[in-house]
Amino acid sequence: MARLIILGPPGSGKGTQAEHIARHFRIPAISTGDLFRTHVRQKTELGAEASAYMDHGEFVPDHVTTAMLRQRLDEDDAGEGFLLDGYPRTVIQVAALDEMLTDRGQALDAALALTVDDHELLDRMLRRAQEQGRSDDTAPVIRRRLELYREHTRPVLEAYSNRGILLTVNGSGEREAITEAAIAAIEGALAKKAVGA
Ligand code: ADP
Repeated sequence: MARLIILGPPGSGKGTQAEHIARHFRIPAISTGDLFRTHVRQKTELGAEASAYMDHGEFVPDHVTTAMLRQRLDEDDAGEGFLLDGYPRTVIQVAALDEMLTDRGQALDAALALTVDDHELLDRMLRRAQEQGRSDDTAPVIRRRLELYREHTRPVLEAYSNRGILLTVNGSGEREAITEAAIAAIEGALAKKAVGA
C-alpha cells in the first residue's frame, strides 16, 4: 500500500512512468489530465467547463479540479493507495490535497519528481503532438504550460522537499531504467518509513 505523487514538467514522461510505477505497487494511477480528457470526450458538464482552459494550457479552476479529484479518491480502488499524476500543481492544491487526506485519516508516503531539461521537453512534446494529436500540444500552448509549471508547480516540489518526502529521479534515458530507478527510490522511502527512521 502506498500513497504517492508524481511531479514533473509537461513532456517529462510522468504519465507513462505513472502507469508502470502504479502497476508495480498495485495501486491506481490517477491522472487529473486524463480525468479531464475523459469528461471532455463524454461531453459532461465538467468537461465543458474544463476544455477551454485545457486548450489554452491554463489551469482548470480549483473548484472544478478539486471536486473531480475528491470524487475519484472516494472510489473503492483508491482506498488502499494511489499514485497521483498532475495534482497538486499549485501550493493551494497542496493544501486542498492535505485536507482531503486528513479527512480520510491518510497521509502521503512520497512525492517523486522527474527531471528533464527544457530542450528535451519541447522535442518530446512536439513529437507527441504529431503522434497523438493532443489539442494542447501546439508550440504556444506548450510554452504556456512550461511557464505555469515553472511559476506554480516548482514551489510544490519545494513544499514536499521541506517535508522530507521528495524523491528526485532523472527522467532522461530509457523508459525501463527510469521506471526501475523510480521504484527503487520509492521502495527505499517506504522501507525507511516502516522502520520509523
Ligand atoms: P501536462 O502535464 O502535459 O501539462 P496533463 O495531462 O497533466 O498534461 O494536463 C493537461 C491539462 O489539464 C492542463 O494543461 C490543465 O489545463 C488541466 N489540468 C490537469 N491537472 C490539473 C490541475 N491539477 N489543476 C488545474 N488544471 C489541471
